[in-house]
Amino acid sequence: MAIERTLVLIKPDGMQRHLAGLSIDRLENTHLELIGVKIVSVTDKLAREHYALLEGKGPFVDKTLYERLINFIKGEYHGDPKRRVLALVYQGENAVQGIRKAVGATNPEDASPDSIRGAFGRICRKHGYYENVAHASGNVEEAEREIAIWFKPEEILK
Ligand code: UDP
Ligand code: MG
Repeated sequence: MAIERTLVLIKPDGMQRHLAGLSIDRLENTHLELIGVKIVSVTDKLAREHYALLEGKGPFVDKTLYERLINFIKGEYHGDPKRRVLALVYQGENAVQGIRKAVGATNPEDASPDSIRGAFGRICRKHGYYENVAHASGNVEEAEREIAIWFKPEEILK
């Protein structure tokens, strides 16, 4: 198995509900190596770069849903004028899949109860989006792309 790196974001719903610590506890249980951590104020540019590949795809063919996704990661639904997201990089064998498993399925109702999203996620029916607490890169290619968006090379340990 190859050594991989992967990105995790504790999203604005997770930050608002002070779930960063509990989420990291579960990430640490993977026994992967934490090599980067940073608190980030999410600009519109950063949000759009992060989600660029989802624009016009799947449910996001609906422009309103895509804009909601952008607003969500900018903290606009969670009352955070600082737009805080906690970004982490984990490294190790099969890190992408290991972290995805710890984070759980996209829809909190489908996510394993042992996962971050299964334990802490919820569906916001009023606005029609998932408050699924954390982001995790979907594959190695996505991971390297996302890490380069959120971190400068010197902010990550080798
Ligand atoms: N999302 C949502 N409703 C959907 C699909 C996606 O609210 O029906 C949001 C959710 O926050 C998800 C993000 O869009 O985490 C990115 O979607 P993706 O398919 O990449 O899921 P992920 O990789 O985060 O599991
Ligand atoms: Mg994804």
